[in-house]
Amino acid sequence: MVDIRGLAELLIVWRVNSGSCDFWYDNWVGSGALHLRAPVLVDVGFQQVLLHRGWNGKLLASVLPLDVVHTILEMEVLETTNPDVMIWSPSTLGEFSLGSAYQEVREVRESSFMSSRVRHSQIPLRVSFFMLRLLRGRLPLDDALTRFQLHLPLKCVCCASPKCETVDHLFADGDMARTVWRFFGSECSVRHPGPLLRGVLAEWWFKSAPTENLCFILWLLPVFICWHLWKVRNSSVFQGVKVEVHGVCCAIFQDLKDAYVIKYGELQEIRQWPQFLGQVELRRAVIQITKV
Ligand SMILES: [Zn+2]
Repeated sequence: MVDIRGLAELLIVWRVNSGSCDFWYDNWVGSGALHLRAPVLVDVGFQQVLLHRGWNGKLLASVLPLDVVHTILEMEVLETTNPDVMIWSPSTLGEFSLGSAYQEVREVRESSFMSSRVRHSQIPLRVSFFMLRLLRGRLPLDDALTRFQLHLPLKCVCCASPKCETVDHLFADGDMARTVWRFFGSECSVRHPGPLLRGVLAEWWFKSAPTENLCFILWLLPVFICWHLWKVRNSSVFQGVKVEVHGVCCAIFQDLKDAYVIKYGELQEIRQWPQFLGQVELRRAVIQITKV
């Protein structure tokens, strides 16, 4: 089960009693964890929003999108002493079973190379969940509708002239995505291969790297890029917050640096992506000289 923990947690829905699950990172509303819909506020949790006989609607409305608030207000608060109950969504009874887990995992294993790339000890669990949903086509975008050749509104928020918001558009082909991929790819000789996300990911994940450090960067960077493109899209759609491409690149770079430092130890204070890559290369040269 350890091997499929990421997928398993994605399929878990929590039934709230006393509010013992995580307000922001567990899926208790049923449509996904709240951190995917709104900025996390550490001083807001179940303690603040769960009142004696109901919800604090005013507080909820001040921190969450209205459609989420409506869903929450319709949820019954049963009592406030027992712990929350975990419900396994693939089973009709809500109880975990190896059979239902196997069905779900088998689907993932059939596309195993891509799926294996989204799990790594330095990739936060919530980011792995998001990537699994992305690769399995479970994000609420327009892809399913385009299969029926419907004329969809051109509503993306990533381009100067809005286009249809599909997975490939948002994560590979849109103005924002292309700029971000090229910003990082140009420094480590990874080209942008075209409009399909899987093609872009394959370009990064199949590229050979001479050292483990570079291999680590080529592995994690695409995951952080997708994660931040999704966060920016949600901020724009649900909160009307416009984030410039420079800010997105900085946030991606920060996540990569944090993961790198945890894995390989301290780096010099570095503010720019090319400098960072240069220092990783320098470290490689030092290691090679030491070996000689
Ligand atoms: Zn776009």
